[in-house]
Amino acid sequence: MSGILIAEDEEALLEVFAELVEALGYRAIRAHNGEQALMLARTEPPDLVVSDHMMPRRTGVELLRAMRAEPSLASVPFVLLSAARPSGREEADVFLAKPVDLNDFEEAITNALRARPPVAIPTLGEPKASGDARRGPVLAREEVLNWVAHELKTPLSSARLNAQVLLRKLMKRGSEDEVRSTEAVLRQLDRMSHLISSILDASRLAEGKLELKSRQDDIVAFLRELIQEWRELEPQVEFVLVGAEAPVLLPFDGERVRQVLNNLLSNAVKYGGEARRVELGLSLHPGLADIHVRDWGIGISAGALPSVFERFQRADAEPAQGHGLGLYIASSLAKLHGGSLSVKSALGAGSTFHLRLPLSRRSVS
Ligand code: ADP
Repeated sequence: MSGILIAEDEEALLEVFAELVEALGYRAIRAHNGEQALMLARTEPPDLVVSDHMMPRRTGVELLRAMRAEPSLASVPFVLLSAARPSGREEADVFLAKPVDLNDFEEAITNALRARPPVAIPTLGEPKASGDARRGPVLAREEVLNWVAHELKTPLSSARLNAQVLLRKLMKRGSEDEVRSTEAVLRQLDRMSHLISSILDASRLAEGKLELKSRQDDIVAFLRELIQEWRELEPQVEFVLVGAEAPVLLPFDGERVRQVLNNLLSNAVKYGGEARRVELGLSLHPGLADIHVRDWGIGISAGALPSVFERFQRADAEPAQGHGLGLYIASSLAKLHGGSLSVKSALGAGSTFHLRLPLSRRSVS
């Protein structure tokens, strides 16, 4: 029977992971920190390691690097979990962001065990100095932020996984009421988790600590893919793509531009009223690409318009549907790209948001 070594310092989460692994038919070997995990791996090389990143005595990435440096453990597949996005995560076979989804977790384990891709073992020699060398006030703050994310996301992660397991059991029993309540719990946990990520992003942006990973790519292909995802996600809404035909290359951070557009598209759906129509479009102007998201919904009053991009602002007297951080983050990410985010809107007439991105790096300040 395959043995899966699980390294997780949060007891409740360690237990859920172990139960899930055992339910899949594998033997779970439990470790409460990175050091203990390494010792257990040396004693009995596991078939797979599932490890949290932020753990006492040895982080997940440190555990991974230590294992890759030992010939007998170098080829053990490694699934890394973290609420933050630690540097070195790309060295793991699979990286899963916390809170971990039940299906993603099971899929990662099954895939990692089925096919072990040839490992490009990093030359390790001395442990990388970057962590210590950069130690100072800047890193200290990042560490605090990562710590906050970890502290909040870990119990959430455990609650979410437990709720997913419960939902599965209830679905088999067919009790509709219980299924509905558990789905409601899951939705609220997702909201909390989204809020924590937004708070972290907003404070990193406010401090100027968020770095883009921009590369030259085709924005048209990107928009096509995005609109397709939204069509699948919200089949009751008509999503129209305009002006996106021939490829347009520009430098952008795909993950972050996706975050901006997802925020605009989800607002367009949320505040889009009865029209149930959302338009995503691209037009080119000298030196910049103008991507717009338009809806025909409730609109924003002239009085509320100037402050929608500020932190914690919600326009008008809408019942609390969101947390008012999304547009602040979106606009800050646009500026970080050397671009801008603006809006034209009128109450009852709908809104059009424009994300403008420079076509070349030269214009990025
Ligand atoms: P939230 O999470 O509250 O939606 P955002 O920062 O994304 O936060 O948006 C801020 C506020 O701007 C919203 O609360 C809403 O009042 C208003 N808003 C954003 N997009 C739209 C839209 N497409 N139509 C009408 N109002 C909008």
